[in-house]
Amino acid sequence: MKTIGTSSRRIFLKRATLAAAATAAAPHVGFAAVQANKKTIGIQLGAVSFVDEGTEKVLDILQERGAVNTIFLTTFTYGRGLAGRQIPGQPFPDHGVRESDEKFFRGGNYATPHPEFYKNTVLKSTRAPDHGDLDIVAEVLPKAKKRGMKLFCSIEDVFRGDVPGVKDVAEVDLQGRRAGTLCLFHPDVRAFWTGLATDLCKSYDIDGILFFNERNGPLLNALGASHSQSIASSRVTCFCEHHQKAAQASGIRFERASEGYTRLDRFVQASLKGQRPTDGYFVEFWRILNDHPEIMMWDRLFDVGKHQVLAEVKGAVKGVRKDLQVGFHIEHVNSFNPIFRATRSYAELAEKADFLKVVVYNNCGGERYANFINNVGSTVFRDVPKEELLRFNNHLLNYEKEAGLNELATAGLSPDYVARETKRSIEGVQGKCRILPGIDIGIPVRRNSRKASPEDTYAATKAGLEAGADGVILSRKYSEMELANLSAAGKAAREVGP
Ligand SMILES: [Zn+2]
Repeated sequence: MKTIGTSSRRIFLKRATLAAAATAAAPHVGFAAVQANKKTIGIQLGAVSFVDEGTEKVLDILQERGAVNTIFLTTFTYGRGLAGRQIPGQPFPDHGVRESDEKFFRGGNYATPHPEFYKNTVLKSTRAPDHGDLDIVAEVLPKAKKRGMKLFCSIEDVFRGDVPGVKDVAEVDLQGRRAGTLCLFHPDVRAFWTGLATDLCKSYDIDGILFFNERNGPLLNALGASHSQSIASSRVTCFCEHHQKAAQASGIRFERASEGYTRLDRFVQASLKGQRPTDGYFVEFWRILNDHPEIMMWDRLFDVGKHQVLAEVKGAVKGVRKDLQVGFHIEHVNSFNPIFRATRSYAELAEKADFLKVVVYNNCGGERYANFINNVGSTVFRDVPKEELLRFNNHLLNYEKEAGLNELATAGLSPDYVARETKRSIEGVQGKCRILPGIDIGIPVRRNSRKASPEDTYAATKAGLEAGADGVILSRKYSEMELANLSAAGKAAREVGP
């Protein structure tokens, strides 16, 4: 296991010195005065923050300002949501190096991959080159342990098309094009996730794994029924041979599913142009589902694959040591899309995990919820005025007193939303696993959309904890957060107490 090598050590020290000037001094509470909290006060952060600001310095800030007792260290991802500095084009927070990392950000495994765990997969070369030979788990783990902090490795199913092996195991769309996302039914992909989880749990004395897989099934992709801003209905995935085999085993006719999604694609594209079907948008949509029940079955198949991966990751972790903990990130779309919500049973998820990180990002939630309403209001529900559609959806989701469509992005969602969604998940899992709501601190949004203030952060953290959660996870990453917000979260955590 390597820690910081000579070349990266030099960069590390240089960046840490540079950052010291940019970092506002933390009020020194002192370690002894930091209240021990039985609840998990977690934070997500990536390697670059430790490299830029210095490991001990960052840990000081997290403990003193945020009352943080658990690190969710981004260990594997090619995505910028969990790794890297502030994403390009967004204002930098008041700490860290205030310069874009586009020149060196690539992603991958920020720990050291040990080859014996990747024998059964083509995905062998995933070492992140961003920080030379730095192994971020080896660097942070002993220092966090010495302070009595827990450390989980976060691993995320976000890849790049140019990673060696990805082309062989990627999803295949309706037109036979290969995507940069991995097919969940490919045996090499399965072997990669279990290999990675086993590697991390065996090679390091960590407390467990938090697994992120935000990918939606093909139905949602086809309808654009998430909060993402584009609708690519022809790129619903995956129709590869492994999917076909899995479909056959479940009695789903591949040709019928493929025909169904082709028809759905034509409907979505025509709807976006405002070409109203004779019987109206919703009726036409429902008719397509009636004619092609395989659309639903294919969507279900995606979920089956995703949940099999979760179960296998849990199996791999528990295979190393029974007391290691496994958590899953539950994506935002689960909280504002009733169709998606129906596919996520908390009782079922509780069987697969020791804890769930439930996304209740309320600030960016306004912008994202408005996107969702605009998306479904442009296709399936195009006949309904969008303001009415929002009100109707609020009833379905048990949201009250949220802003109207025009103000939703600037207002964000309320702390009450955080409390309601936290309570719903606690009731759903019936004590079978722990619930840690993910609190939004500075998640990037459009210029005029709501971004966390200290008051917002305090209110959201408090709402989650007072709703009965077992803790919180401050999200998405430290390199996006203003220090005053971190202090506000810490204030709420200390007030609610253990
Ligand atoms: Zn496939």
